[in-house]
Amino acid sequence: MMKSIPYGRQFISDEDIDAVVKTLKSDFLTQGPRVIEFEQAFAQYVGSKYAVAVSNGTAALHLGAMALNVKNGQKVITTPITFSATANCVKYCGGDVVFADINPETYLLDIEQVQDLLDSSDKGTYQGIIPVSFTGYPVDLQAFRKLADEHNLWLMEDACHAPGAWFTDSSGHQQNVGNGAFADLSIFSFHPVKHIASGEGGMITTNNKQLYEQLLRLRTHGITKEPELLLENHGGWYYELQELGYNYRITDIQASLGNSQLKRADEGLKRRIEIAKRYDDAFRSLNIVKQKRSETEQNAFHLYVVEVSDRKGLYDYLKKNGIYAQVHYIPLHKMPYYRQEESLKTDLPNAEGYYERCLSIPMYPSLLDEEVNFVIEKVLNYLN
Ligand SMILES: *Cc1c(COP(=O)(O)O)cnc(C)c1O
Repeated sequence: MMKSIPYGRQFISDEDIDAVVKTLKSDFLTQGPRVIEFEQAFAQYVGSKYAVAVSNGTAALHLGAMALNVKNGQKVITTPITFSATANCVKYCGGDVVFADINPETYLLDIEQVQDLLDSSDKGTYQGIIPVSFTGYPVDLQAFRKLADEHNLWLMEDACHAPGAWFTDSSGHQQNVGNGAFADLSIFSFHPVKHIASGEGGMITTNNKQLYEQLLRLRTHGITKEPELLLENHGGWYYELQELGYNYRITDIQASLGNSQLKRADEGLKRRIEIAKRYDDAFRSLNIVKQKRSETEQNAFHLYVVEVSDRKGLYDYLKKNGIYAQVHYIPLHKMPYYRQEESLKTDLPNAEGYYERCLSIPMYPSLLDEEVNFVIEKVLNYLN
């Protein structure tokens, strides 16, 4: 029987299973001590002051947009080459999404296109920017911070693809994705296809104490019991609903899995980098790898993308051979829902050209060398 190879998948170890079983036998199932442990370990991993764990990456984006005060009539700029949730979080809050084109060398939101949008608009029309470290390629947040400050905007990084990635700042320092040095908030997901799996799960990291405290409230309905934050206090039972939030809590069951997986994050990243290098070497002469490789930036390789003119042909051929490649992403500004946006700039040639050719081939730490070779062989077979 032919083995099937997906484009991405989780790896669950015996330690992961033990950690979950231990939690199931403990006093806490929903948010409890394992969530706090996970938050502290994750903040340490990325180098941020604070981390708030939530039920999934989409909830993290939604709470982030709420905390950053997205409201009716506010415009937020993001990339069309991302998962829907990146833009949807703005819509949840009543804001408008404006898409700017990608840079064909990195596939990330092109800062010059963003600059053009900001320069051509009335002052004050835009409220924030959500760049995405797509495929795991780190956004140059220092450059985006500078631009955001010039226009008085907030900056929320969608880092769902990029735990472990880093870029080098202008003074030569390594800046880890999610470390809070430049972005107001950074967003992570623990969906099984991402680097760290918790089933469903998400995390928001920040260095801003005020945002952190607000996110904690928003995660639990907008309720606080913190004595120093209460307007009144009627006794030990007393709490206040201070703003409208949600139940976006993650469970201790999920957090114990996420925390156990986090311990292997560096190992997994190392393997992803190794696989990327094998692919890079094998495909060099075909010129199908267009994303920049750089010594001063660490791509976390959530995805490995090739660009080919006969994308559908390659996709179907690989599928026939048990290799389930995928397309990331169909440009969001072409989705029926976003086509209705009034202020939409619909001509984004780089994103559209990229979409015509892109294909994500298998990339995950438990991919065996022989499977990598099999994928390479099939890609070469088809293209030669
Ligand atoms: C996975 C993902 C999300 C959403 O995360 P969920 O945990 O699935 O809700 C958001 N943005 C990007 C870029 C993602 O890859």
